[in-house]
Amino acid sequence: MASKNIQSDGIVEQCPDCGREQPHEVSIDILTESDDDQNAEFSREPYRVAECRACGATTKTRMNNA
Ligand SMILES: [Zn+2]
Repeated sequence: MASKNIQSDGIVEQCPDCGREQPHEVSIDILTESDDDQNAEFSREPYRVAECRACGATTKTRMNNA
């Protein structure tokens, strides 16, 4: 699984675990999804992963959500 840091300095955004804004490490991960075993098709979706520097909680957001 490839992981690429796009913001090594971190960005400040809301952390649901901390309940306040905290600096986050943000990276983009391509995660493979398989909804169904019958459907042997894999969809690879880019996710934006933000990890809170204060508590370590990660928030994954699918990039191509409408
Ligand atoms: Zn946090």
